Amino acid sequence: MEEKPILIQGAIDIELDYLINIIKEREEVEIGTYKYYKGLIDGYPVVVSKTKIGQTNAGAATSIAILKYSPLLIINQGTAGGHGRIIHKGDIVIGKDYINLTAFRINRREEGSGSDLSGWKMRAFYTDKQHHIYNVADERLLKITRELKDEYKNGTIYEGRIASGEIWNRESDRIMYIYNTYKTLCEEMETGAVYTIAKNFNIPVIGIRVITNNEVLKEIYDNECAKKLATDCQMFVEKVVKKSIKNINEFKV
Ligand code: SAH
Repeated sequence: MEEKPILIQGAIDIELDYLINIIKEREEVEIGTYKYYKGLIDGYPVVVSKTKIGQTNAGAATSIAILKYSPLLIINQGTAGGHGRIIHKGDIVIGKDYINLTAFRINRREEGSGSDLSGWKMRAFYTDKQHHIYNVADERLLKITRELKDEYKNGTIYEGRIASGEIWNRESDRIMYIYNTYKTLCEEMETGAVYTIAKNFNIPVIGIRVITNNEVLKEIYDNECAKKLATDCQMFVEKVVKKSIKNINEFKV
């Protein structure tokens, strides 16, 4: 029987170009508008998936890949915006868990009394508790990334919470509020869907995100720089993939 592949995801081209290029015996498959690049890394099957942007796309691309390829592991990676004052452009965040940044319960207000975003309570509806954190990364994959920490030379690697939602936040006070309240390290738009679906199918998952912008530190997103950083991130992900392949039997239990 063929080995189950490692699924590696990114939302946009700059997050995928490097990884697609290192695949041997590459074959492109398109399902709807979702693209998958099948092939081998170090002789082991991988599928690189372009999820496109946002939770809905990431959810669909992940579900399709699970049904079609039955991956052994899922690695979601790409760019993100830093939260707080510690994490700079070029640093990498490993998502130990995530919170849903765009799930709110809003108090009643009668017509004519206006809208006040500060009163919107963050709340994940589909969890059992009144809890935002739904899901955590696989401990074996976390261990592998920890062991590779010193091999990343373009910044520092942090492990912690990713804020995921349909939002690109540029208000520094709002970012600091989320950071202080929920201890988030960065924000992006796909991890929530991928972690949720991986959990529901009981597939080990990890999210790896390079910081391409930090509003609080006035480190603004710049296309050229983001392309370079997204490539650096993929080169680190390549190491994670190769180390996972070396330890593949750990995941087959
Ligand atoms: N400027 C890019 C747009 C990227 S769209 C372009 O024109 O192509 C957003 C993507 O970047 C999402 O996949 C998201 O995961 C990631 N991202 C990077 N920084 C982000 C931030 N500060 N907030 C939200 N998403 C961010």
